[in-house]
Amino acid sequence: SKVKVLLTGGAGYIGSHVAKLLTKYDYEVIIIDNLFSSQPQKVYGRFYKSDLREEGKLLEIIKKEKPDIVLHFASFISVPESIEKPFLYYENNVGNTIKLLSAMKKAGVKNFLFSSSAAVYGIPDIIPVPETAELKPINPYGETKAIIEKILRDMAEAGEINYISLRYFNVAGADPEGEIGPNYKQPTHLIIRALKVAKGEIPYLEIYGTDYPTPDGTCIRDYIHVMDLATAHLLALEYLLSKGESIVLNCGYGRGFSVREVISVVKKVTGIDFKVIETKRRAGDPPILIADNTRIKKILKWEPKYDSLETIIKDSWKWELKQK
Ligand code: UDP
Repeated sequence: SKVKVLLTGGAGYIGSHVAKLLTKYDYEVIIIDNLFSSQPQKVYGRFYKSDLREEGKLLEIIKKEKPDIVLHFASFISVPESIEKPFLYYENNVGNTIKLLSAMKKAGVKNFLFSSSAAVYGIPDIIPVPETAELKPINPYGETKAIIEKILRDMAEAGEINYISLRYFNVAGADPEGEIGPNYKQPTHLIIRALKVAKGEIPYLEIYGTDYPTPDGTCIRDYIHVMDLATAHLLALEYLLSKGESIVLNCGYGRGFSVREVISVVKKVTGIDFKVIETKRRAGDPPILIADNTRIKKILKWEPKYDSLETIIKDSWKWELKQK
């Protein structure tokens, strides 16, 4: 019979790309999503509109479906918002993940794929940063991911769970087939905002800080195409189900682009010279985040196929132009 995969947040940006890929590979896909942050045009798999904080409903779904593995995408993701509303972040990203783990325990589901973040590293001492680096997040968002990773580590050590934690760097781009893409109600990410400025939906783009210790003064990030990230999930899932070995893996390309470099590629791809304003730093931003991806390439035999900032921005732009 088919392998059954339950995705929390499976109607959101990253979750939906993974759900689509899993459907192609003949997995049975079940989605739990509260549709809080995203407005999906398409949901792959069997869909339960539900919030993780409703423990009774959650347990009922997990007991009924008995998935082989849970992929946990549902989470709040904004660094500045996490600084303004820390409790909201601890409540949702930590509290609701514990509720999910509790329901899994009661239903006898042991395999877990966790959406972690490069934000767990804070300002790393080594760049590109390896998974073995110390975790010292500089904002509540990163802290919530580090806390869950700690819980998973202890549970795995005691044999209570098998997990893979994927530490995402800056995910961008869209389904090359054009069926899905970022569908945030309030986009905060650089590439999406830049494209919305190019489209005329936002009057200008702000650069948050030009005095960082980087060559052009703006922050550097490792932008990874959502399709390569989706493939990483597929490989991780297969690895976990066959080997049962818990691991933590960086998901990035091992190279970075500054905010100014991203803006110049967005202008080139769209052919639109939009307005850019330099403003002060945004709270909680580390100057440079670049992944050391040696481990994921070696353990999962992951081979990036969309490793070009132009491809990422082209696919995002194609998606953006399709939206009204
Ligand atoms: N950024 C910016 N203007 C924007 C959005 C983001 O200058 O409108 C910067 C942000 O300060 C960070 C980088 O772009 O240095 C990437 O931010 P994003 O929100 O896309 O991802 P994060 O790294 O926070 O997950």
